[in-house]
Amino acid sequence: MPGTELFGAEERKEIEDVLSTGVLFRYNHDALRNNHWKAKDFEAEVRKITGAKFAHAMSSGSTAVATALAASGIGAGDEVIVPPFTFMATIEAVLFVGALPVFAEIDETLCLSADGIKKAITPKTKGVCLVHMCGGMADMDSIMKVINEHQLILVEDAGQAFAASYKGTYTGLFGKAGSYSFDFFKIATAGEGGVLVTNDEETYKKADVYSDHGHNHIGALRGMEEHPYLGFNYRISELHAAVGVAQTRRVPAIKEQNRKNKAYMQSLLAKTEGISFSKLADPDGDSATFLNIMLPNTDIAQQVVDDMKANGVAGFDYWFKNMYHFINQWDHIKELKAVSKLPIHILGAPQDYKKLQLPKTQETIGRLISFGVKYKWTEDDMKQLASKISESVNKVMQLVKA
Ligand SMILES: *Cc1c(COP(=O)(O)O)cnc(C)c1O
Repeated sequence: MPGTELFGAEERKEIEDVLSTGVLFRYNHDALRNNHWKAKDFEAEVRKITGAKFAHAMSSGSTAVATALAASGIGAGDEVIVPPFTFMATIEAVLFVGALPVFAEIDETLCLSADGIKKAITPKTKGVCLVHMCGGMADMDSIMKVINEHQLILVEDAGQAFAASYKGTYTGLFGKAGSYSFDFFKIATAGEGGVLVTNDEETYKKADVYSDHGHNHIGALRGMEEHPYLGFNYRISELHAAVGVAQTRRVPAIKEQNRKNKAYMQSLLAKTEGISFSKLADPDGDSATFLNIMLPNTDIAQQVVDDMKANGVAGFDYWFKNMYHFINQWDHIKELKAVSKLPIHILGAPQDYKKLQLPKTQETIGRLISFGVKYKWTEDDMKQLASKISESVNKVMQLVKA
């Protein structure tokens, strides 16, 4: 949680600005707000880092990805290719805009692969909701080839990959729209918040309207605005945006330190037999929020996890068994258990979610153990952690060989 590691005076100052006027609402009230526009400032900071032409701050990464899908023209009955390894908000967003998720294979980038996408395409495929996982990025050259060849709409859930890039282009900006999360666990936090980015003005305008009850935000009188489309309330408050501004300004420094720490950890671990790392499609673009260790197989990874736990090693995720990041534990999604009827219940699911065959994904996630990279790790912290990880891996590798 690098963002929250650094919570301090800068965040307090931005919050104080908002509290001093009491205008907690991001729109209008020009005379009262003493020129404080925190949501707009937050958007400007995100544009500065990513180079996006348009950025729109919202209430969460989840509402941002749902809005990215809707503003890109994805809706009821559209098949959308999704990964089986993601925070489940991605799948919920697809379902709640009325679309139909189609699960495809990931690879060692921990993201959907071009080959996986290609194999999941049907005549009903409208788009792909690509997720850039664990601070890294998908292999965009090969994926864009498939997207363009099949004229699909690409939406990027870069919830975990703010400030990550591929060959100079930031995640979220390859397709029609993308989204970042600023929840408590990400590289920067707003408490709760998300930002939609796009280089397409039309998509931005739709997102702006959709996320605020259809208001077009033209003119100073909210009650007199036009409503070009239906919308809902996915607004961010000025208090959350204030935290987001201060945190986003820290991201370049966080990223730099994360990259140093991750590189050091990898140099310490690389000599240990059995340890390799997940693939980065562009190592120079890594936001380095996670150190992703790959073991030779699922059985070994599980034993290493057990041994590390027994030795008091903390700060890692074994996603294969994680309740909300991996499809094996998503029974409620596979059974489409909803509190009320969704379009997918009427239209039918495009796959039998309980009988999916995704061997490459199973094998990849089974081997993966991810450590959250800490900004404040000292050299000593890292040496100790790396030595404990190596100790567990060495022990399990000896047992396996015996
Ligand atoms: C965190 C995350 C989200 C959701 O973000 P919230 O701000 O918590 O709603 C969506 N997608 C991915 C991949 C995430 O990691």
